[in-house]
Amino acid sequence: MRPSSKIIANQMFTRIYLHIPFCRKKCPYCAFFSQEPSAGDIERYVRLVCEEMLHHSHTVTAHADVDSIYFGGGTPSLLEPRHVGELLEQTAGLFRLAPEVEITLETNPGTVDLRKLSGFRQAGVNRLSLGVQSFDDRMLATLGRIHTSRQAQAAFASARKARFDNIGIDLIHSLPGQTPEMWRTDLEHAIKLAPEHLSVYGLTIEPETPFAARYPEENTQLPDQDLSAEMFEAADDLLTLQGYEHYEIANYALPGRSSRHNSGYWHRDGCLGLGAGAHSFLRDTDFGTRSCNPGNLATYAASLRNGVSASEEVVALTRDDAVSEFMFLGLRMADGVTFPAFREAFGIELKDMFGRQVDDLISQQLLTEHASGIRLTRRGMLLSNHVFRMFLT
Ligand code: SF4
Repeated sequence: MRPSSKIIANQMFTRIYLHIPFCRKKCPYCAFFSQEPSAGDIERYVRLVCEEMLHHSHTVTAHADVDSIYFGGGTPSLLEPRHVGELLEQTAGLFRLAPEVEITLETNPGTVDLRKLSGFRQAGVNRLSLGVQSFDDRMLATLGRIHTSRQAQAAFASARKARFDNIGIDLIHSLPGQTPEMWRTDLEHAIKLAPEHLSVYGLTIEPETPFAARYPEENTQLPDQDLSAEMFEAADDLLTLQGYEHYEIANYALPGRSSRHNSGYWHRDGCLGLGAGAHSFLRDTDFGTRSCNPGNLATYAASLRNGVSASEEVVALTRDDAVSEFMFLGLRMADGVTFPAFREAFGIELKDMFGRQVDDLISQQLLTEHASGIRLTRRGMLLSNHVFRMFLT
């Protein structure tokens, strides 16, 4: 990767990501940048993000309409509807939005009621990603979540009342002490609510979190690899039976309801990330540029006060970087990667570059080839990290 000192003009994005780095209480398994807010922090932060947006509106260019705005965190639902309205007005004033722009807000069930959800809807949010994680109160307590199962179900019902017709539910499996039966019960609870989208990730123990100290490697409370695989397969079986498309390793959606923001990430569409700790990927005539903002509120605020871009660690991707990303992000999707798309992006046949790797992985039943490309098998999804390593250039 080639480091670069500044963001260059005429870089392109079609997605905007707004990072809200506040949580009411830090969950012990979480490695995302967030902190508990003090009085006035949120008001000040919203103004800073509006300022950053103004700065970028002069330095980067969205050649196409922005078709997705995503409030991620942290806990964006700690914002008041007026804050969300302010950020969306600034976005609409500075960038060209597609008429059907998808506007998603990550929502913690412990932070919303009908009033707040109706306010978000009125402000323009049209999709919610509800961080339920489990419908089992024992598991929620283990995860240190601030809500109960009953509160999660009430939040979902309130969201429907507030006229949200596009709701995703996030669940985590392979939790300490969780059995496959407990996981199936979680899935059944979710199915009963009939969300349009489900994300089902296996718990990973992130270094330097309280969970890393609590659950060192080989801890017997954590389900082993076989049990985790069973839980992954249970989700696949149960959800596809209910009409959900398994469109990415950990994501399921009713037809036409996949997440535009996440799909754009896996397709390597440009994304302007705003806020402390936010990551950007801007497309350009070369192979694209990745950057991230300081994951520290004071540093982020200081860089904006000095009238400079908050972005640091700006890296222009090399062709090799882009090839690897194309493969490991594209293969996450159920459709996989296609030969014509690879040829168009890199001017070479995929098989000329990776013929040996593809043959090996097919013989291990981790990949399958069809007329126009390759995709992971179900076994390949379970062992995806092994597959992705084969495409590092
Ligand atoms: S609410 Fe979400 S972002 Fe906040 S600490 Fe918990 S897991 Fe992390």
